[in-house]
Amino acid sequence: LLQLSAPLNFIGFVYREIRQGLTDIEQMFDLLEVQAEVKDTPDAAELRIGQGAIAFKDVHFSYDPARPILKGISFEVPAGKTVAVVGPSGAGKSTLSRLLYRFYDIQSGAITVDGQDIRKVTQKSLRSVIGMVPQDTVLFNDTVAYNIRYGRTSASDGEVFAAAEVAQIAHFIEMLPEGFETKVGERGLKLSGGEKQRVAIARTILKAPPILILDEATSALDTTTEREIQTALDVVSKNRTTLVIAHRLSTVIGADEIIVLKSGEIAERGTHAALLERNGLYASMWNRQREATQAEEHLKQVRESD
Ligand code: ATP
Repeated sequence: LLQLSAPLNFIGFVYREIRQGLTDIEQMFDLLEVQAEVKDTPDAAELRIGQGAIAFKDVHFSYDPARPILKGISFEVPAGKTVAVVGPSGAGKSTLSRLLYRFYDIQSGAITVDGQDIRKVTQKSLRSVIGMVPQDTVLFNDTVAYNIRYGRTSASDGEVFAAAEVAQIAHFIEMLPEGFETKVGERGLKLSGGEKQRVAIARTILKAPPILILDEATSALDTTTEREIQTALDVVSKNRTTLVIAHRLSTVIGADEIIVLKSGEIAERGTHAALLERNGLYASMWNRQREATQAEEHLKQVRESD
């Protein structure tokens, strides 16, 4: 039996390696497949980036022709400003961020960056000016440092550390068994959603793009984590054109404009104060979330006083 177990262990090891390899390939394939949806035109130019102003003009889009998702969406994110998109689940919020990154082409209308239609420029030049912090960041099976440095491979250790500090994750990393050299990802230490998002923010800080897309995780975060992420985001989004797909109140309050999306149409738009005044969909969403937060905090106080 002993004689058998060594080769079996080895086979087990090989099997796990292959399986992990397949997972990586599948992830890559997913990405490639998404990218295959859009192609550069033969005469595609390089995007000439200025201040990074974004405009959606009467955008219509569907993944499947039988089911329209966006039905004539128009809005602008002026250079350096922050626009937050809120609305019920399935309204099409994340779709907006995917379209700006040009994972898909729209059916009609236009999306422009500094006045240039994103279908007429190379995907590479478009994506090089956009920092994307997705809902769920997939980390590479490598060290924390590698995962952050991916934002700009030439960054020094000092720059990686500084980015982690701004992203409010440096302290957490230093407490890990091997600090910045700790292996993370599927095969290493698994990080929580909030931690992964902060690694993604650190990566974006190194990339320092003029445009930022932030797709917030739907998962609930505790108040401290939420505050830490918000602090990090305030720093990165400062003077950057930022589109936030928002699920948390803290990110929307300070936005220059809030777009309330409902079933692929803009139901309301305005600042936080103006929308509350209006007493419509946004106000009711806000009140519901506030009640939920208050109930949660009350529960915590009760628990703590026990
Ligand atoms: P949530 O707040 O739950 O994240 P959302 O407003 O961001 O929702 P989207 O992710 O933009 O919603 O999705 C809008 C609609 O498009 C949904 O009904 C969804 O089922 C559909 N959809 C999203 N991605 C695809 C896809 N790749 N193929 C087909 N349909 C899709």
